Amino acid sequence: MREIENLKEAILKEYPRLDLNSEFQFACHPGVPCFNDCCGDVNIFLTPYDIVRLKNRLGITSEEFLNKYTLSPFDKNLKYPVVLLQMEDNEKKTCPFVGKSGCQVYEDRPWACRMYPLGLASPSDDNKQLDKEFYFLLQESVCKGFESKRKITVSEWLKDQGIADYNEMGEQFKDITLNKFFQDENNLTPKKLEMFFTVCYNIDKFRKFVFESSFFDKFEVDAVTKAKIEKDDVELLKFGYQWLRFSLLGEKTIAVKSEILEAKKKELEQKKKK
Ligand code: SF4
Ligand code: SF4
Repeated sequence: MREIENLKEAILKEYPRLDLNSEFQFACHPGVPCFNDCCGDVNIFLTPYDIVRLKNRLGITSEEFLNKYTLSPFDKNLKYPVVLLQMEDNEKKTCPFVGKSGCQVYEDRPWACRMYPLGLASPSDDNKQLDKEFYFLLQESVCKGFESKRKITVSEWLKDQGIADYNEMGEQFKDITLNKFFQDENNLTPKKLEMFFTVCYNIDKFRKFVFESSFFDKFEVDAVTKAKIEKDDVELLKFGYQWLRFSLLGEKTIAVKSEILEAKKKELEQKKKK
């Protein structure tokens, strides 16, 4: 984690800042001498959307995916849990998804793999001095892609890599993680931490929480939404973000049923009388 902190500091202080129109020289294809060399010994933070795409690609549950392919480092400085792709236990520490012909999950590869060689710095709890996001180039020494003469702009690269869906889901995730609650150095209680982890990283467990509890007796959820979130993990994740904003951050993103509010009111009145 220290290494990551040092890199973050260098990025903010030293790396040239790029915008969508900035041009850089780069090409990556099976013909490069370093093909696959970057798919190992690397810290890849998985976003909630990455996990949904990968576990569906592999046809396994989110629980199985977490157990088999990830690590969740504990660090007292982290405001919320993060999940890393676990590299194989071999000399090169290879990614579990790399094969001779390249990435075996290419169509559903994580956001970070799509972005490389670009990085994105956003204003966040640990980037307080930053008021606007910027892109930067991560030039790994192993990477020969920079020797190419091909010029490409940041926005062309993002389009080429199919980043749009990832960014749309990323924005909704950021609505939570960049919330004032976290910026103000607040910490989640263990119960809330568990809910955060369930919604963001263990979507199948969250589905059980919603559909196999008294959730729908307490909260207003229309039939169309219910049908969508029952079948579609991405819709369920979007709903989960609304739930976190309601249950962790106190926003009015989910409506409590009137009879539940009424019962709560009566309970409070009775408590006052005693
Ligand atoms: S997920 Fe694919 S692109 Fe990303 S490190 Fe693994 S093999 Fe490489
Ligand atoms: S090291 Fe660079 S050029 Fe080589 S495969 Fe990886 S991203 Fe492509």
